[in-house]
Amino acid sequence: GMGQASTRRPRLLLMGQRRSGKSSISSVVFHKMPPTETLFLEATTRIQKDPIHSFMDFQVWDFPGQLNFLDPTFDFDHIFGELGALIWVIDAQDEYLEPLSKLHSTILAIQRFYPAINIEVFVHKVDGLSDEYKLDTQRDIMQRTQDELSDNGLDNVQVSYYLTSIYDHSIFEAFSKVIQKLIPQLGTLENLLNILCSNSGIEKAFLFDVLSKIYIATDSSPVDMQSYEICSDYIDVIVDVSEIYGYDRKPQGQISSPTSEAPGEAQQEEEEAPLEASSIIRLQNGMVLYLREINKYLALICLMRKDSIEKQGLVDFNVQVFQNALQQVFEVGR
Ligand code: GDP
Repeated sequence: GMGQASTRRPRLLLMGQRRSGKSSISSVVFHKMPPTETLFLEATTRIQKDPIHSFMDFQVWDFPGQLNFLDPTFDFDHIFGELGALIWVIDAQDEYLEPLSKLHSTILAIQRFYPAINIEVFVHKVDGLSDEYKLDTQRDIMQRTQDELSDNGLDNVQVSYYLTSIYDHSIFEAFSKVIQKLIPQLGTLENLLNILCSNSGIEKAFLFDVLSKIYIATDSSPVDMQSYEICSDYIDVIVDVSEIYGYDRKPQGQISSPTSEAPGEAQQEEEEAPLEASSIIRLQNGMVLYLREINKYLALICLMRKDSIEKQGLVDFNVQVFQNALQQVFEVGR
């Protein structure tokens, strides 16, 4: 089943200067910490290896100085060997020339030994900055990096840049883009979501990593921030309710038949096959949110008009078809 894909979950590593915001990002995205509480976080001092029950395998590493890949006492292969993306965090509110030069030497080293790793730069803490200053900063960082790479004969290295802050959804949006590049089945997932949407009268569908609220795929209609925010807030509610009622998450790789039970009711079924959480809520503006847990890591959330859900049997059926197809996609992918 899909759960076994956990052995090859996309691996991400977060690096950057001390105080650049790495532990804050990790706490807000993967541990649901309110952003203001990060003010009291201890600075990162070591590689963190807490297991994260997420679709992605995520670690944080404080940049210890010069990365010396020739240092025999350090097992770089262990860290970088199966890494999908290196996310480099730069504090845009602080002096960034020195951190930038560390980024550059890291890119050069990574390129030499692990050329397949995606390099993703988070120009971070942009919440305090004017729009103009944000873009200037990003442009400056891009330009300096491009120049440095060109000087070293590496004109073709792809580096991506994102403006991020833990105080809004930009950090989740950036993670979504980073993670989507690491999913070889992305095109198929998008097609399946498109089919689901058009067959069920769904306006927008997201496949979310439940723990982090990062979406790993969506249908090809444009993402507007408001629907994304509604869907991600809804996950919080459902996860909280599931936790309160002691909902037992299904073992890896097992996908049971569809149900329309609320998470609370699922609890009574504990002895039998575990059930996915599934729920529907009507919004004031006439729209409906439809959620279905797909497996241990993923949930499908759909936004639709209320007349589409009048044929709920059809929607449930189509979602089940989608869920089965998804399972096959991940199995074939292995
Ligand atoms: P680390 O050493 O890289 O792990 O950095 P921390 O996560 O400890 O963050 C250092 C400081 O930056 C903390 O006081 C955070 O509250 C603050 N910080 C982190 N992210 C943001 C952000 O997006 N915006 C703002 N304004 N401050 C942030």
